[in-house]
Amino acid sequence: MGPCQRASRSLGTFWLRLVARRFHGQHALSRLSPLIAYPKAWSPSTNGTIRGEVVFLDVKTTADLDSYKDKLKGKIVLFSPARNVDPLFDPPAHRQTDEELLGLANAEPSADPPPFQFTAEQGAVEELNYRKWQLIQSEGAAVVLQPSFRDAGTVYVTSSTVPYPPDVPFEKRVQAWDISKPVVIPQAIVAAEQYDRIIRLVARGIPVRLEVNISVRFYDDDPMSYNVIAEIPGTDLKDEVVMLGASLDSWHAGTGATDNAVGAATALEVTRILQSLGSKPRRTIRIGLWSAEEQGTRGSHAYVATHLGRRIDPPDGQPGHARFEFKPEYEKFNAYLNFDYGTGRIRGVFLQGNEAARPVFRDLLEPFKDLGASTVSVAGIGATDHMSFDEIGLPGFQWIRDYMEGNNTRAPHTNIDTFDHVLENDLKQSAAVAAFVIYGLAMRGEKLHRKAFPSH
Ligand SMILES: [Zn+2]
Repeated sequence: MGPCQRASRSLGTFWLRLVARRFHGQHALSRLSPLIAYPKAWSPSTNGTIRGEVVFLDVKTTADLDSYKDKLKGKIVLFSPARNVDPLFDPPAHRQTDEELLGLANAEPSADPPPFQFTAEQGAVEELNYRKWQLIQSEGAAVVLQPSFRDAGTVYVTSSTVPYPPDVPFEKRVQAWDISKPVVIPQAIVAAEQYDRIIRLVARGIPVRLEVNISVRFYDDDPMSYNVIAEIPGTDLKDEVVMLGASLDSWHAGTGATDNAVGAATALEVTRILQSLGSKPRRTIRIGLWSAEEQGTRGSHAYVATHLGRRIDPPDGQPGHARFEFKPEYEKFNAYLNFDYGTGRIRGVFLQGNEAARPVFRDLLEPFKDLGASTVSVAGIGATDHMSFDEIGLPGFQWIRDYMEGNNTRAPHTNIDTFDHVLENDLKQSAAVAAFVIYGLAMRGEKLHRKAFPSH
């Protein structure tokens, strides 16, 4: 994958409020209710303030769409039905139990996931959604509102939707950030409970008037994203590289404190600790802070493709048929360790199927048994930057973490991803464990073994 060419955006103005006007005798009573909402990333501006009665796109099949012809122009459209809000029985933060860690230690290597495909049911939902977006665009609606898929005060906001039929693979879709400026309709996410309230009012025949204003500025003068790279040079084995890294980007509803400022800060702290000790590692220790992880690990992909090698996907899309091109630095590369998945402490390491690396990590983590950080699992975990290394056969790993609010449960990509959810003691533990392991990898006699890899 090449560098990510994208426009960036800054938000000038945004508000969304419910304005109900009711008549009491001769007097008009205005009732105003501000709504918790955020524009989706790369949403365009509305044309000034849009005021009006909402239209709920209440469709269950594509045949229902016809009844909305000529009814959406300039309107504020509610995209979906009320969302079912369930009680939060499970605490969002979780320390891995001894039993869970033992399960990870005894796990089998994870099988490669099959190429992604919608089930028939998902395909039908995707097709209907596509047709809804198409209608909304062709009819010239003013703005689209959708409910957050997290609730209880948490609003989950990612990127603006560019409609595609379900049979178009994700990697072929032009996204809202693309400098080719695909057609995107202004769109925002509303707190689930407030969205549901509006839907209930509409369902009872009570007209709901909203006011919304989104004003954004796009910057496309520099469409590049930038990685930050630094290193502590090695000594007798300085051509061999031990790398650590984390993504440096985040989403806009919060500050991205747990996804992934903590990862970048921990990787930096590891480097600072090693530097402040005046360590002279045998191998070079290099840190990479990656841009555009949230757009598909673009920054780490671009780095790996430029310096180490790349996978060329075959026309038939079968993973086994991919070709590989390697750079001279590929041979000398030792290992990459990634920091992601929130603020929870390190509990060990995922080997990504590299059984040969188990004794090395077992030795390096042994001193941290009493900190609960010594689990070594041959299982794999995906969806972040170590995969850019792993997919061309390099040893790329991610730490096993305790999952705090920062993992899949709650904070990432939401308005609550702020400093409040950062755990200082967990991060101190993570930095200490990681500094020791990374220094150990840079000092040991042998280079780390690689797992069996089809073309190498
Ligand atoms: Zn994320």
